[in-house]
Amino acid sequence: MTYNNIDFETYFKNYPDANGYFGKYGGSFVSPELQTAMEEINDAYRTICKSRKFISELRRIRKEFQGRPTPISHLERLSNKLGGAQLYVKREDLNHTGAHKLNHCMGEALLAKYMGKKKVIAETGAGQHGVALATAAAYCGLECDIYMGAVDIKKQAPNVARMKILGANVIEVTEGLQTLKEAVDAAFAAYCHEYKDAIYCIGSVLGPHPFPMMVREFQKVVGIEAREQFLEMTGELPDAVVACVGGGSNAMGMFSGFLNDPVEIYGIEPLGRGPALGDHAASLKYGEEGIMHGFNSIMLKDENGDPAPVYSVASGLDYPSSGPEHAFLHDCGRVKYDVITDEETIDAFFELARMEGIIPAIESAHAVAYGMKLAKEMGRGSVLINLSGRGDKDMDYIIEHYGIR
Ligand SMILES: *Cc1c(COP(=O)(O)O)cnc(C)c1O
Repeated sequence: MTYNNIDFETYFKNYPDANGYFGKYGGSFVSPELQTAMEEINDAYRTICKSRKFISELRRIRKEFQGRPTPISHLERLSNKLGGAQLYVKREDLNHTGAHKLNHCMGEALLAKYMGKKKVIAETGAGQHGVALATAAAYCGLECDIYMGAVDIKKQAPNVARMKILGANVIEVTEGLQTLKEAVDAAFAAYCHEYKDAIYCIGSVLGPHPFPMMVREFQKVVGIEAREQFLEMTGELPDAVVACVGGGSNAMGMFSGFLNDPVEIYGIEPLGRGPALGDHAASLKYGEEGIMHGFNSIMLKDENGDPAPVYSVASGLDYPSSGPEHAFLHDCGRVKYDVITDEETIDAFFELARMEGIIPAIESAHAVAYGMKLAKEMGRGSVLINLSGRGDKDMDYIIEHYGIR
């Protein structure tokens, strides 16, 4: 399928290019020292991850350890209540550890092991990436250093406990505001010293090349499975596919399966409390082109041109930019990006729990809310939503802020 002069039949061969560009977005904007490390990872990715041995081992792990393929569920009661298109969800909440993140963490950790590294390094904000990486590191027999701001360590006690139980070192970062930004800086600094023995593992389709490409390739399993399963279940392709976009990894995984099909694709960003800067994290809708964290994309900037403060009820979505591939798919129009507020999200969260017996992650509830709106608007046909994770991690927050509805 060709769309705005881009051939989606050969898309994955051409995007990103050899330097990690999706059109004008992507690339690698890091110190010469880190660039050496990025090139080592890129070379290793191109040889090791394409080898038959790596592919078959990862395939076995996905099946025997992660519990893949995850199923697709038809939301019959909810669809009937809405009276429009039929809703389906891809159940990444049933992937081991309860979200899609393990799909790329397992790929990254296995690559580290094949490269002969002893350790994986990362930062984490809410702790979800840290837990997924600590899980993969334990499975692969690697050390795991997770950098985390002191403020986040206090807020996210259960995830800190999980990481420690899994054998990871949680390293407290006490610089600046003591949150994610400082943790990123500390993790990169550590990596500069340790790159001979360690690899850095990013948490989404973000960062310098080759990470946006690598993480997409490891997440593709979601879209490939979903396309096959949906065809088998219904005999047709879905009319629309929906996923939430923070950095954009669960969305790129799902979208990859359908880019070359006559399927409408929607990426959903968090509108939080509203459109004023600081009240949301809808970078593709309200942002502009800019470089941060080592890559060029569309980002939310403050008056000095620095990354703006962002907010969302979903801690996994509050990032001031999105992966460069999303910026590219946004500009070419193949994927439509839209927004959902906190309030619509919480309504969808309870609706899915009550009507279907599935408690979604608050991140995923953004996609569910949009899917519900879309189903009503469409009136007929089918909508496939990526349910990126389960809501167990959000119970305390929901009870405290919203009570039982
Ligand atoms: C981290 C997370 C997200 C957001 O990350 P993406 O890279 O945008 O997918 C979405 N859903 C869940 C459940 C998460 O844990």
